Amino acid sequence: MFEPRFPLPEVHMSHAVVLGAGMGGLLAARTLAEHFDRVTVVERDKLDASVAPRRGVPQGRHLHLLLPRGGQVLNRLFPGLTGELTAAGAPLAHHEREVRVVLSGLTQARPRLDAVTILASRPLLESTVRARVAALGNVKILDEHAVTGLITHRGRVVGARVSPGHSGTADAGAAPVGSGEEVEADLVVDALGRAGRTKAWLAELGHRTPPEDQVKVNVAYASRFLRMPADALGGDRVVLVAAIPGRPRAMVLARQEGDRWMLSLGGLAGDHPPLTGAGYLDFAATVAPPDVHAALRDAVPLSDPVRQHFPASVRRRYERLRTFPPGLLPFADSLCSFNPLYGQGMTVAALESEALAAGLRAGTRDLPERFFRAAARVIAPAWLVAAAGDLALPEVPGPRPARIRVLNTYIRRLHRVAHQDPTVATPFAQVITYLAPPARIAAPTTARKVLRGPRP
Ligand SMILES: Cc1cc2nc3c(=O)[nH]c(=O)nc-3n(C[C@H](O)[C@H](O)[C@H](O)COP(=O)(O)OP(=O)(O)OC[C@H]3O[C@@H](n4cnc5c(N)ncnc54)[C@H](O)[C@@H]3O)c2cc1C
Repeated sequence: MFEPRFPLPEVHMSHAVVLGAGMGGLLAARTLAEHFDRVTVVERDKLDASVAPRRGVPQGRHLHLLLPRGGQVLNRLFPGLTGELTAAGAPLAHHEREVRVVLSGLTQARPRLDAVTILASRPLLESTVRARVAALGNVKILDEHAVTGLITHRGRVVGARVSPGHSGTADAGAAPVGSGEEVEADLVVDALGRAGRTKAWLAELGHRTPPEDQVKVNVAYASRFLRMPADALGGDRVVLVAAIPGRPRAMVLARQEGDRWMLSLGGLAGDHPPLTGAGYLDFAATVAPPDVHAALRDAVPLSDPVRQHFPASVRRRYERLRTFPPGLLPFADSLCSFNPLYGQGMTVAALESEALAAGLRAGTRDLPERFFRAAARVIAPAWLVAAAGDLALPEVPGPRPARIRVLNTYIRRLHRVAHQDPTVATPFAQVITYLAPPARIAAPTTARKVLRGPRP
């Protein structure tokens, strides 16, 4: 329970500032626009109408799946979004017919899941959502401005300092804390991504920093666009192959707008994919099912592979702090960022925006405390899926509490049964697409089939 050091008066929701215009920042801004008179989103990159990766979002060069639950929330926030994306060429992948998933080395039976994953590239999704947010009458996006610090008054955060200059400017973002223009606000949302500053700001303001959970996956993704026929994979639009013990390598291949495919290869525990043409394909050969490998051999590369290193999944437990400065909220990746293989980040950000909306409906008093509790409930299932999945690999270091060991033994057995039984593949698919809570895989009918199935 928080013990506010400072009085927490209800403030008039006049102006909110969102730091960062990534997917998290845009979703926060969309929600805040319903509660505040004005919202300003501050972004270091230059933002224009082009649909291209940008410097501040290096992950935009890698595959981004918008899971069904995330798609549902985004369509509620931005009615007609799916139609707009498909009109721009983004494919949809129906889980029952067009998504192939290989887990524990076994192709899973097709789940009975009437749901779609949206296959827009990250630049297309982000620019479409950004245009919708920018069109809101009370939202202003201030691009080419780097956030350099906070403004505080009597322990309350009352705004942010920003400094003009975009990411191409040599010292953008490196300006000393405290320099720059002041933007006053009743609420400041830190959506600066994985490197979010809230933790450092807490220390500067004399608060404790949050405990962190980490899973040191040491994964690197290497991704490239490919030209392949639309039916190269027998109608499948997504093929996901998870890592297995002894082969900590994974891949996701998915169709994208512009009649392209994107292949993202992932290597955990330091087993990183090479970027050279032959080495890249050789790495893929160790992961891809035979028909997928054959299609990849015949594919025409449209871009060179690019790599991004992701050292660890990190969950900052702000809900466990006893004090927190009013007027500040960390959001999305700055709260928790997951090994991207599971495709959860944007969906979790969407669900956090719902948690924020619920929090704001009850006013600003104690908002951090209420938001952190609600966000923790949203993050917990995603963290469990990602952490359990990664800790199933002996190559990934870290403690494995009994509950993770038991869960992973159960999941290995489930994958064996779900290899042939769609009634068992379905609950698992519901959980990893965020359409059902993790407990769904332990429902009595599923558990009976799993426990009677073959032992791994
Ligand atoms: C390789 C990879 C693949 C991924 N694949 C998926 C996927 O398939 N599905 C999925 O749902 N999620 C995926 N994710 C996660 C997803 O990208 C994030 O969860 C999501 O973007 C939400 O992040 P965010 O808005 O918190 O941060 P970001 O999207 O990283 O945005 C942070 C923003 O802050 C800006 N910024 C940073 N510093 C400053 C500063 N000082 N001043 C001003 N602005 C600043 C940046 O320019 C950027 O615009 C993937 C991540 C990675 C790394």
